[in-house]
Amino acid sequence: MQRIDCMLKAALIAANVCDEWKIAETDAFIPLAAMFQAAAMADEEHQIDDDMFYVVSSEGAIGLAYKREYLTQWLYLPAEDFPEERKAFYEKAKQEAEKQKQQTPQQTQSPPQQAAQPQQKQPQPNKPKFCKNCGSPLAPGANNCPKCGIKIE
Ligand SMILES: [Zn+2]
Repeated sequence: MQRIDCMLKAALIAANVCDEWKIAETDAFIPLAAMFQAAAMADEEHQIDDDMFYVVSSEGAIGLAYKREYLTQWLYLPAEDFPEERKAFYEKAKQEAEKQKQQTPQQTQSPPQQAAQPQQKQPQPNKPKFCKNCGSPLAPGANNCPKCGIKIE
């Protein structure tokens, strides 16, 4: 296998045979564009020293090889080997993205409403949520307990 001195080069070589990877020892997958970003960042953050180099397997797995130990630590494995897990991973990511999408519009709309609400609510002082006589839950703003009929103050 070719000895590669930076991760971005390794990613470029691996991209010839693979366009998606599983990050080793995690449940996460990484597509091509994100891989290039991750590789560029890895090269920026830490240069590998003379004792190690990157390798790319014929299947597109990317590993870090240690010369002295005769050891290769596989960092990224071809996603093709994990079709079911990959599907589950992206399904979950999609669901989480949808959840965030649904929450975001409410969050952007609500601040003006919340700013106006306190003034509207103030005429109604804190009425008790439970009847002090029988303990039944009370509707907001109720004048009488729905169960025992006692007047709510
Ligand atoms: Zn009551």
